[in-house]
Amino acid sequence: MLAPMPHVITLIPGDGIGPEVTAAVVHVLDVAGVQIDWERHDAGITAVEKTGQTLPPELLASIARNRVALKGPVATPIGEGFTSVNVGLRKALDLFANLRPVRNLPGVTSRFQNVDLVIVRENTEDLYAGLEHQVVPGVVESLKIITEKASTRIAEFAFDYARRRGRTAVTAIHKANIMKLGDGLFLDSVRAVAKTRPGIAYTEKIVDAACMHLVMKPEQFDVLLLPNLYGDIVSDLCAGLVGGLGLVPGANFGARAAVFEAVHGSAPDIAGRNIANPTALLLSALMMLDHIGETAAAARIATALDRTLVDGRVRTADLGGSATTTAFAEEVVRNLV
Ligand code: NAD
Repeated sequence: MLAPMPHVITLIPGDGIGPEVTAAVVHVLDVAGVQIDWERHDAGITAVEKTGQTLPPELLASIARNRVALKGPVATPIGEGFTSVNVGLRKALDLFANLRPVRNLPGVTSRFQNVDLVIVRENTEDLYAGLEHQVVPGVVESLKIITEKASTRIAEFAFDYARRRGRTAVTAIHKANIMKLGDGLFLDSVRAVAKTRPGIAYTEKIVDAACMHLVMKPEQFDVLLLPNLYGDIVSDLCAGLVGGLGLVPGANFGARAAVFEAVHGSAPDIAGRNIANPTALLLSALMMLDHIGETAAAARIATALDRTLVDGRVRTADLGGSATTTAFAEEVVRNLV
């Protein structure tokens, strides 16, 4: 029998802890026997140092060709005229939907149990459009862009995701009481989509109240639908509910490509010490395996990860242990059956 064709996937090791956690994840996928030819490309500060550009065109061409990428976190050089690398990547590939499942993991003690929610964040506009200018010295205007088109598209994504995954409720999060036009348009667009998707309960919450409800009774939430900025902030808040940023995966979807990455950033405070938790990126990679049809491999690795976490002897520092990133990955490999 012919060996299966390998998947060709773009790999962005990224900055800070990125190369450490991506190496750990690539090792686990490799030992699990998933056939992947990785096309490695730099982005962010690492790319600037080598090429002078934060988002080299070869990287974008590689993702456009392969349609799938696994990405470590990248940092944008501050105050040197560089626009955000992540925003640039999402815009260049029109990765309009950011999906971040947040749930308790077995064996991980956290402030809450029974958290199983999904954040759907609009990824292309809002204050992330990067449109800022100085009106007069001492006064700066940052433009918050909300369009009917992008709001409708992300709402359709959220409701369709909910239906496909057997989820029953979508909550739109907004501040339309203050931003009556901008967030008002977001809400109107979501309401119009909700009307066409019977069978999924639809509610709305103002972002400040939603934060309070999240840190008191997070188990009441199912799918959260948010514009870009609130989605960014609420993602980190929700990561805190289940044990921290080392545990929460994510994916960015567009019509033509998908980029899988953890919620966390490059963590400069712990970079280069081999102590970061690779779980968030590993879970992102499992979402990627499901996406490319490698569901059996994804399930097998998920079981090995669960065993590792439940056993608890090998844990990284964020979970109260002293294991290195590499040792944690080796333990997951040892638990593969
Ligand atoms: P961060 O997510 O990098 O770190 C926040 C805290 O969480 C730090 O204390 C860090 O040590 C901890 N942490 C994060 N990931 C961890 C892991 N895997 N294991 C253990 N602990 C972990 O946020 P930040 O410090 O605000 O941002 C640092 C840089 O990352 C910035 O340049 C920012 O722009 C960038 N960033 C990139 C992305 C991305 O590429 N998608 C996302 C967020 C932030």
